[in-house]
This record gives sequence, C-alpha cells and structure tokens, in this order.
Amino acid sequence: MQRLPHWIDGEARASDSGRWLDVFDPASGRAYAQVASGSAADVAAAVAAAQAAQPAWARLPNSERAHWLDALATALHARLDDFAHAESRDGGKPFALARDVEIPRAISNLRFFAHAATQFASESHHGEAGLNYTLRQPLGTVGTISPWNLPLYLFTWKIAPALAAGNAVVAKPSEITPATATLLGELAAQIGFPRGVLNIVHGLGPEVGEAIVAHEAIKAVSFTGSTAVGRRIAGVAGPMLKKVSLELGGKNPTLVFADSHWRDHLDTLVRSAFQNSGQICLCGSRILVERGIYSEFRDAFVERAAALRVGDPMDSDARLGPLVSQAHFDKVVAAIARARAEGGTTLCGGQALQRPGWFVAPTVIEGLGPDTASNREEIFGPVATLQPFDDDDDALRLANAGDYGLCAMLWTRDLDRAHRLAAGVRAGIVWINTWLARDLRTPFGGVGQSGLGREGGAEALRFFTEPKNVCLHLPAP
Ligand code: NAD
Repeated sequence: MQRLPHWIDGEARASDSGRWLDVFDPASGRAYAQVASGSAADVAAAVAAAQAAQPAWARLPNSERAHWLDALATALHARLDDFAHAESRDGGKPFALARDVEIPRAISNLRFFAHAATQFASESHHGEAGLNYTLRQPLGTVGTISPWNLPLYLFTWKIAPALAAGNAVVAKPSEITPATATLLGELAAQIGFPRGVLNIVHGLGPEVGEAIVAHEAIKAVSFTGSTAVGRRIAGVAGPMLKKVSLELGGKNPTLVFADSHWRDHLDTLVRSAFQNSGQICLCGSRILVERGIYSEFRDAFVERAAALRVGDPMDSDARLGPLVSQAHFDKVVAAIARARAEGGTTLCGGQALQRPGWFVAPTVIEGLGPDTASNREEIFGPVATLQPFDDDDDALRLANAGDYGLCAMLWTRDLDRAHRLAAGVRAGIVWINTWLARDLRTPFGGVGQSGLGREGGAEALRFFTEPKNVCLHLPAP
C-alpha cells in the first residue's frame, strides 16, 4: 500500500514513532494508502529544520523568494492531472472539479503570493514627530493547519503568503486528505526548493496540530477548520500571546428576491448549495426566498437539485461525489434525520445511496424555522433548507439569525436594496448576483463563530509579518 511520509528539511521521513494511519477512498470506503502519524517529536524536528533555514530564506531578495514560489507553481502546473487525480481520490471530489477549479486555484495561490512578495510595501509617516517608517519583518517560523474539504487549495492559501513574507513554515494538512500536500513536498524537493523552509508534518489534530500551536518557537498559527477546533486553538495560543488567524465554520444564507433573474441563475444557485457535495465553507445552506416566488422557486430548485448526478468521482457526468469520510457521512445522515424530527419536509434526497462508499443524495428541506438546529448548526453536506420571507427586514432578520457570519449571497436587481442589505448582513463576505467569484487581493474571513482575522492579499502578508515603527529625529533646518 502507498505510504505518504512527512517532508521535513527537504526529505521524506517516517514518524519518529514509526506509526501510520489509514487513508480512505471515499468512493469505495476502503483504505488505499497510509499516512505518517506524527507526534510532538516530529513537530520538534520540523521546527528545528525551519529555524535553521529561515534566516537565509528571509535574507533572500523578495524577487528570489517570488522566483521559488513561481517555480513551485510551474512544477505543479506541469503535474496538474496527477494532482487532480490524487485530490479526487483522497477527498471524493469529482475529478473535473479538482482539475478545472481546485488545483488551478492552488497554482494561482502560489503565483499570486509570488507577485505579492515583490509588491508588498509598508507605510511611512512624517510631519508630526520626525520621520517614521514601518518595517514589516517576517515572524520567523509559523504554523499552518488546514482542513480536508479543499486540501491543496487551502494548504497553499496559507503557506504561500507565509513563505512570501520570509517565514519558514511547519504545515499540517488534514489527516483525512494528506495526498496532495505530500506530493507538493516531493515536488518542492525535486525542484531544489531551499531545504527546511517548507516542512510538512502529518498526523492527528490533537497530536500534531496541537503540538504545532503549543510549540514556543512557532510565532503564529493560521488555521482553517471547524469552530470547535478553532476555539481549542485559541485556548492554547491565547495564554502564550501567540498570533492566530482562524477561518472557521459557516451557515451561510442565500437571499433570493422576486426581482432577481433567478431562473437564469438557477445553475449557480444550485451549485452554491451543492458544489463539492456542500463541503465548502462558502456554500449557501439556508436559502431564503421572497414569499411571492417561493412555490415557483422551490419547484424549480428542487427539480434541478434532484437531477444532479451523484456518482463516482472519475465519472465525467457525476456532478457530486461521496462525502469525505465515514464519520462525516454519519454526521450528515444524522443531521437529515434530525431535520425530519424537527418537523422538516424533505423535498428531494434525504437518504444515502445504496452502494459502497459515502454517498448522500442532494437534499432540500422546507418547513423549518430559524431557531431549529437544522438552520443553526453547520451540516457541511449536500443539505439545504428553504425558508420564505416577506420583505427586506424579514430577509435580514432570517439571514442574521444564528451565530456564524462567513458569507451571504444576495440575488436582486434592486441596487439600493443590494447595498443596504450588503451593509446590514452579518458576514465577512457578500456576493451579489454571483457566488464564489474571488479576487485574491480582497480580505477573506468571517465574523462571529466563523472566525477571527482576515486572509488574502495584503491582509495575509500583514498577518505573517511584525510591524516595527522606526522614528528618526529630524533636526530643524
Ligand atoms: P477540523 O477542525 O476537524 O480539522 C481541521 C484541521 O485541524 C485538521 O488538519 C485537523 O487535524 C486539525 N486539528 C484537529 N484538532 C486539532 C487540535 N486540537 N489542535 C490543532 N489542530 C487540530 O475541520 P475539518 O473537519 O477538517 O474541516 C471542516 C471544517 O472547516 C468546517 O467547519 C468548515 O466550515 C471549515 N472550513 C472553513 C473555511 C473558512 O475559510 N472559513 C474553509 C474551509 C473549511
């Protein structure tokens, strides 16, 4: 069986303990590989390698660090199909989604922050108290911890700005989807990427993730994952006064107004609920529809959702693959049962597919109010609820009912309403008449239980650097 090692100091390594974890193919439910099961000892080795490598990496001209990130992007592009295949098998996502969207986005992340490294600048202030300028210095060694839903896409979204800013990284991918990060470690070694600058340590969250957060030489942690683990990380990092960026869960509202061109956008509306089987933090899982079009919209939406072909990730007709793991499948199936128990009516789906693997049919539920667990708790599967609203205030009340605040989608042609609601909705990101359109320069992140801090563009480079004010006395002329 294939074995996926750590990549520490530019080398493939087994764990200090010699332990391995099974990695499963979600389409069959069978183990197809093993990944190194790390511990604090492996994290310590990675931190030592990072600390040894970081000063020279930080001293490189920005353009040379940019060159290395760009070279990694080029090497990744040359292996696009291999990476897409590995991503699809590891996480169960349709091969085309991995090849056409997610791996290309990982390439863009590397290239974007390569360019950003050459453009990043800091402020200067004068005219009040001498001449002040701000140094933006790398933090040193930083940790990144990423989830399974967009494995390489989110892995690169963190390591690229950290490296661009001159830090060395100890990165932990999800133990559920470790394949493409491992391949990237291998690729980095093949192109001669400076050793020790990018270290990848695999293993369980409480063993490896927590050891990264708690290591005193790790100066900052960038985390994407569940709210529960985000809280735990904040609890460990807080007393150490360690910088954290937390990108957490969501329960995003999609607001559909009668004046929108909703029929023309039905494909996007359905995709925004079900892409990657709803396992995207930015999916709209609460669909709020103006009462006047509710029945018409519901029937059209349900017809389109029910027609989504669920199947093997390598089947080019399959729009949805399986859920990522047995544990996640059990959670989603239990959430559907809970929605029924809460009085919801299942309009389509509502069950697992009778075949090996962890497949759940796209499910649309109506009849549940804003205070039900189904409408408050993240399900992170192919499950969306429908609720009618009466007017703008009612729409906003429903949209803001809950503890999360990652993103919101507004579908309307009324500009006044769009801007008013965009300002009023509790979310870090608002899309108007579109979904998942991304300019990598924009601040990315959520409010409330969806997280703390922002990623993307200059925000990420600021997070991975320490500002230092230098004030120079200017003698009077
Ligand atoms: P998770 O929180 O279970 O795991 C995320 C990562 O944290 C994994 O690498 C895991 O091993 C590690 N981890 C687990 N326990 C840890 C601990 N005690 N200390 C340190 N690290 C630990 O999340 P998941 O199930 O992999 O991912 C799904 C979640 O991620 C969903 O809630 C989803 O909304 C969220 N997500 C958020 C965003 C965003 O940008 N806001 C993007 C993608 C996913």
